[in-house]
Amino acid sequence: MQLSSLIGAIRLIQMGDKRWIPQQLRGYSFFSKLDEWGFQSSEHQNMCITCEDFNGQVFAGDELRRTFPYLTVESKNTISPNVHPNCKCTLQREN
Ligand SMILES: [Zn+2]
Repeated sequence: MQLSSLIGAIRLIQMGDKRWIPQQLRGYSFFSKLDEWGFQSSEHQNMCITCEDFNGQVFAGDELRRTFPYLTVESKNTISPNVHPNCKCTLQREN
């Protein structure tokens, strides 16, 4: 991992929930214990083994940032876990 991306990740963690959630989505809960997110792998040819392992697993919201430190919130019901560069997998809200 490059140092600059490591520093970026640390900065994101220090800024708390607000930094993770786009302004227009801050009314929703993403990272509470009660939020459930199902991993859907992209199924494309060069999908990595890590993503294949995650496929179908359900994560509680409070596990997400530890499990997927590079995640980005895309919409109310979709998070990109960004497991690796160019990862096309998604986390879909289950509840
Ligand atoms: Zn992936």
